Amino acid sequence: MPGTLTFDALKKMVKDGSVDTVLACLVDMQGRLMGKRFHAVNFVETSYKETHCCNYLLATDLVMSTPEGFASTSWETGYGDYVMQPDLETIRPVPWLEGTVMVLCDVLDHDTHSPVPHSPRAMLKKQIARLKELGFDAMMATELEFFLFEQSFDALRKDGYRNLVPFSGYNEDYNIFQTTKEENVMRPVRNHLFAAGLPIENSKGEAEAGQEELNIRYSPALDCADYHTIAKHAVKEIAWQQGQAASFLPKWDKDRVGSSSHVHQSLWKDGKPMFVDSNDELGMSDLMRHYMAGLIAYAPEYTYFLAPYINSYKRFAKGTFAPTKTVWSVDNRTAGFRLCGAGTKGVRVECRIGGSDLNPYLAQAVMLAAGIKGIEDKMELAPPTRGDAYGESKAVDIPQTLRAATETLRGSTFLREVLGDDVVTHYTRAAEWEQEEYDRVVTDWEIARGFERA
Ligand code: ADP
Repeated sequence: MPGTLTFDALKKMVKDGSVDTVLACLVDMQGRLMGKRFHAVNFVETSYKETHCCNYLLATDLVMSTPEGFASTSWETGYGDYVMQPDLETIRPVPWLEGTVMVLCDVLDHDTHSPVPHSPRAMLKKQIARLKELGFDAMMATELEFFLFEQSFDALRKDGYRNLVPFSGYNEDYNIFQTTKEENVMRPVRNHLFAAGLPIENSKGEAEAGQEELNIRYSPALDCADYHTIAKHAVKEIAWQQGQAASFLPKWDKDRVGSSSHVHQSLWKDGKPMFVDSNDELGMSDLMRHYMAGLIAYAPEYTYFLAPYINSYKRFAKGTFAPTKTVWSVDNRTAGFRLCGAGTKGVRVECRIGGSDLNPYLAQAVMLAAGIKGIEDKMELAPPTRGDAYGESKAVDIPQTLRAATETLRGSTFLREVLGDDVVTHYTRAAEWEQEEYDRVVTDWEIARGFERA
């Protein structure tokens, strides 16, 4: 991974006192960094080999509940340990924290030391390896959209998240003046991440007040997911350092645009783009057509991994640039899949379904699996949609609720084959739990609507 520190370089920095803290982090089901802060001396002497964590870390929800019904962990089995094995290729500075570096860890079974199958990083590695067997490498880019708020996380939480004030007052799409006002957060985000070895392209204002987008240059799939996770973490921490809040909730206000995470994808071989065919009208190779056909055909089955929470589905609405149909189009932002860079060597497909809350490892794993299936089965790509895809009545809908997405996930023989039965059962339980938690809540909307008038 470019920009990272070697273990030897880390040892020298620990010796000369420039590093005193090592963050050893795994990526949880929600795509968050979880782990321990090591004294750097302990890390370079012993803990670089492995450390341990409770196995509930890959079976919790957003608020760290311990739901029943997971085979991998439970009260009955006593919530044992996983091994966290630092991936020493991923040591990097954390320039926004003093004297600190970070390393990402793979999650292994405590007894067998084999990868935990439902660990997001392991799931992506498995699909990358399958693709490699076919002779290809995946290059990916995930866009990060989010909102910046005037108040701090603490102030907002204490106030019940009631008076959310976005950092700027009006739609700031591409607006330089508006984004200048947000430079206290965004400049350190770009520069610190760049210094941490992430190939930052740019940040820009997005199409709502206080909404920003961060773009990172496309990279091999595992690096891309690592970058996304570290960048999302950095945005929150740097906003917090500035006494502000950054939110990746896809839809925080029903009347405002939501936040997405579009995923750009292309396949390469020996450093050459394999989606390119200059003889084709749109510059697309047969390989690309088969890959896209798989992506589109299986989208309803894997939507859960692009939209894992109740709130994720509030984003899918007509006329908002968030797609509702599994169709593709040529540089048209109303479809679920957009052909970008047609006729150039940068030709690629952008999946527009995912929300800003997606876990990039899971999202890329399932999309690679779908693309591989398209290639293996030489699936035919239907012609592109033209015009407004929202009105495409014959096209298949993306599941419109978490409940619907849970059922397409549960029933997916394709995902059971490529991810493993246990993995699909594990994530289906996570999806069910999210729904169960939501279903038992009485919302403000119900009270306001019915308290007097029912
Ligand atoms: P737009 O603003 O139209 O969405 P950009 O030019 O900003 O498009 O590119 C979006 C993302 O696509 C960037 O992160 C870029 O690195 C990535 N990208 C460019 N070429 C490729 C490619 N061949 N494969 C995958 N991603 C790519």
